[in-house]
Amino acid sequence: MRTKSQHSRMLLSKNEGGAITFCEGCDVLELEIGAVSLRIDSSSLELINKLMSEATTSMKTYTQEKARFTQAMEQNFGLH
Ligand SMILES: [Zn+2]
Repeated sequence: MRTKSQHSRMLLSKNEGGAITFCEGCDVLELEIGAVSLRIDSSSLELINKLMSEATTSMKTYTQEKARFTQAMEQNFGLH
């Protein structure tokens, strides 16, 4: 029987935003973002990936729309 400390962990991904490791023994992913670490079920990875990617897309749209709005406001002010 293997104890928790003997579980081998695999580094799946790492960048400036954080790191994701996988514990084969627990079938758990560990997300490390700054000082926060989250343990999630390995089957949730795709859902979380979808969540992040949808948020990224929404954020891009928001930023673009905001820029367009600001630009439109400046044009309106330019008329006076
Ligand atoms: Zn483990």
